[in-house]
Amino acid sequence: MHLARFPRLHFAHLPTPLEPMESLSRALGGPRLWVKRDDCTGLATGGNKTRKLEFLMADAVARGADTIITQGAVQTNHGRQTAAIAAKLGLRCIILLENRVETDDEDYLKNGNVLLDRLFGAELRPYPAGGDMNVAMEPVAEEVRSGGGKPYLIPGGGSNETGALGYVNCAIELTYQANERGLRIDHLVHATGSAGTQAGLVTGFEALNSHIPVLGIGVRAPKAKQEENVYNLACRVAEKLEVRGGIDRSKVVANCDYVGGGYGVPTDGMREAVQLFARHEGLLLDPVYSGKGAAGLIDLVRKGQFSRNDNIVFLHTGGATGLFAYRQTFERGMN
Ligand SMILES: *Cc1c(COP(=O)(O)O)cnc(C)c1O
Repeated sequence: MHLARFPRLHFAHLPTPLEPMESLSRALGGPRLWVKRDDCTGLATGGNKTRKLEFLMADAVARGADTIITQGAVQTNHGRQTAAIAAKLGLRCIILLENRVETDDEDYLKNGNVLLDRLFGAELRPYPAGGDMNVAMEPVAEEVRSGGGKPYLIPGGGSNETGALGYVNCAIELTYQANERGLRIDHLVHATGSAGTQAGLVTGFEALNSHIPVLGIGVRAPKAKQEENVYNLACRVAEKLEVRGGIDRSKVVANCDYVGGGYGVPTDGMREAVQLFARHEGLLLDPVYSGKGAAGLIDLVRKGQFSRNDNIVFLHTGGATGLFAYRQTFERGMN
């Protein structure tokens, strides 16, 4: 596989470290847990969107765009990373923020990612919950065009076949790291939302014949819908890369039992996971994605889903900035 065929800007700090989580593994008495540190991608406190943006922003620049338009929930980590790289490249950045969590909590509406979006000079536009946010970007693009600008639209989470190349790249990187240190990876577990991360990983491992099963822990959609989204995108990525044989549907697996009350709504499992990672590993998860992903991982470990000697890698997709938007959730839940 030859990713260099596609335009790419290099601003992520790569490769991200692959580290053992000895203390947490001991505490759970379970398999050998590892963490792939994509919270350390280097851009504006890091996270998984940075890998996608290397390919998306290269495409934007190649097309001569001067304005980036994207969208997400109010505390979108994708928006924050997009705002940062747009600032660095001297591009205007407009972010449509959907009030998906429907709260009037001041920390949620103004702190965390929102504070950083503003620092990076992004223009933030609020939208009510429930609309099709990718469609909502169209009139904004038209407005930019009529003002003489050249807009480039990035879908929610940067999840299209261009952005997903960032996670094909991660699959190559992780396979190489595992081979270099003689580490057999039995499972890769991560939080899955807009599907680009999982679609890229599945496609990358398939193309490399790595045989590393990927388990996405859902944070929003039910299982059938989430797997369909990931599978459809993976097929498009495989087509773009001309992966022989395409994607086997059975390689796309999501567990959506840990969503709780809905997207961005705290759960007890999330609170416990954030605390366990903090207190055993000094790692910061986030309330919306990696916290729920880790809650799923911890619960499956406790249920005996993995063998004692399995090596399980948790892909840390970042998002700790969001903790500051959920101050009350953690103040109340702390023990
Ligand atoms: C966006 C995001 C995810 C989910 O990745 P997708 O590619 O949208 O599925 C996971 N964790 C964090 C912290 C994120 O910001």
